[in-house]
Amino acid sequence: MADIKDKGFNAFKMAQEQFDKVAAKLSLDEATCNLLREPIREYHFTIPVRMDDGSVKVFKGFRIQHNDARGPCKGGIRFHPQETVDTVRALSMWMTWKCAVADIPLGGGKGGVICDPHNLSSREQETLCRGWVRQIARNVGPVQDVPAPDVMTNAQHMLWILDEYEKIAGGRFPGFITGKSVGMGGSLGRTEATGYGVVYVLRELLKDFKMDISKTKAAVQGFGNVSQYAVDLYSKLGGKVVCVSCWDQAESKSFTFFRPEGVSFDEMIRLTDRFGGIDKAKAKEVGYKILPGEEWIKQDVDILIPAALENQVTAETVKGIAPRVKIVVEGANGPTTPEADEVLNKRGIIAIPDFLANAGGVTCSYFEQVQCNMNYYWPKEEVLSKLDEKMTKAFHEVLDLSKRKAVSLRDAAYMIAISRVAEACKMRGWV
Ligand code: NAD
Repeated sequence: MADIKDKGFNAFKMAQEQFDKVAAKLSLDEATCNLLREPIREYHFTIPVRMDDGSVKVFKGFRIQHNDARGPCKGGIRFHPQETVDTVRALSMWMTWKCAVADIPLGGGKGGVICDPHNLSSREQETLCRGWVRQIARNVGPVQDVPAPDVMTNAQHMLWILDEYEKIAGGRFPGFITGKSVGMGGSLGRTEATGYGVVYVLRELLKDFKMDISKTKAAVQGFGNVSQYAVDLYSKLGGKVVCVSCWDQAESKSFTFFRPEGVSFDEMIRLTDRFGGIDKAKAKEVGYKILPGEEWIKQDVDILIPAALENQVTAETVKGIAPRVKIVVEGANGPTTPEADEVLNKRGIIAIPDFLANAGGVTCSYFEQVQCNMNYYWPKEEVLSKLDEKMTKAFHEVLDLSKRKAVSLRDAAYMIAISRVAEACKMRGWV
């Protein structure tokens, strides 16, 4: 499930190939395959923005709805200068599978604008957000398509979009968009949701392996939103994180922060800036060894949690994985390349695939939408306990199928997701 913008790499082609492989295993009929390997609807439009200097700049915007047979489409809006239609197509398809495997009643969508928000003033960004939703207002909404923040968009962008949508729709529709701030229709627990979800599925796999979590060690790549809360919950359950790695903005390279007696979540948070970078000098003072960035994957641990970015467990780096490692939990999107995945399978290392492991985020966004629609908000404990229940159930369905069919967790997760969507299309009489 890569999120890759390399020249020559086509994410949509890769998403279609993944789909074709599983469709063949499921013996899906031709019409269902033709329907599911393409987005159901695509909107491409232009957004004129009056810039601060008085000139007008025209931006290109997209919304792609891959499939809504199981419910309204769900997916982020990204602002990125190298955004491509094919990236958005692929991401919308992956959202369909993620919602289906988590068994939430939503489909898959994704949107974007080709722009670099770093070069736009706050007023220009606001105009862009309002312009985006004006072009698409009739085709999105709480019962059609529900956007959320993604790369380089945040709660403020979502609130501008919501405000403009509500002006057009003539009412208050907080369930139109998720990722809003708490108090403005956002859900408690959203910050923790993805990282905690990663650990809920890990905890279940360890139970299946009859491994006591308090006797396990993990190495984590990244110390941002997903990794911080994965470290937090895994440590609370008794596991020991021996290192985290992160990107150093000043030196333009990554470092691994290693401490054999374990990483302290609270201490690390104090040393971390808002971009997930860690202060090296202060970390040394409290006993961390600073190793090169790629060292995180070579540690003598039971569990690896890549939770930073795509393309990290590759044909090359997989060679460095220690014999002790039994589990890779993919917190990030697309951290493992297909070649590395084959090596993991051969070595008997179990990978919990990204679109299952990090589905806690979208599941909590769904809870946000539910709470907005009720106009009643749950306490954090209730949100997190519902999240645990959903993730645990989804994980066991995948684990059971992988055992029954003797396939990897990744293949089992795809088989469940694709069959659910195919079944919904059939029941609606579409194919
Ligand atoms: P984030 O920006 O909060 O944190 C990213 C972290 O990765 C930072 O600590 C950064 O220093 C580190 N990093 C960047 N480049 C690195 C490198 N080369 N080596 C080591 N560390 C590096 O991002 P996030 O929200 O935690 O997202 C992480 C991944 O999880 C992404 O792939 C994202 O698409 C995926 N994801 C996030 C969510 C969510 O709810 N946040 C949901 C689903 C999937």
